[in-house]
Amino acid sequence: MPEENNCIFCKIVKKEISTNIIYESENFICFPDKNQKVKGHSLIVPKKHFVNLMDMPSELGSELLFDIKEIAANEMKKGATGFNILQNNFSDAGQAINHAHIHIMPRYKNDGFKLCV
Ligand code: AMP
Ligand code: ZN
Repeated sequence: MPEENNCIFCKIVKKEISTNIIYESENFICFPDKNQKVKGHSLIVPKKHFVNLMDMPSELGSELLFDIKEIAANEMKKGATGFNILQNNFSDAGQAINHAHIHIMPRYKNDGFKLCV
């Protein structure tokens, strides 16, 4: 069975699992992370099932960057004063869902969130 048949993010893309779609473009959708590490924490995912960044065509890069900036700008219009983007690839790097995704994490002064780099 193809991996995407059992993929939670493919099910969200196909609207088999309902979510609040924050943003949608030709090749990506963005929805809230179910474990909000910070207020407004969201995930942007390709509509096609790519396992991780290495699997994703580089041609999608400029659309992805544009979309991230739109989503982050919208959070900043709503009051965020910064944002982090985070992307895990392969299980040893903390990737739990094998459908490529980027975390967008709005930040607020003294929000207490610690990102280790
Ligand atoms: P990662 O460790 O980068 O693979 O992160 C996977 C993220 O997906 C985690 O932050 C989860 O909270 C999030 N997640 C898992 N299932 C869902 C879901 N059904 N809807 C929204 N977010 C999810
Ligand atoms: Zn998938």
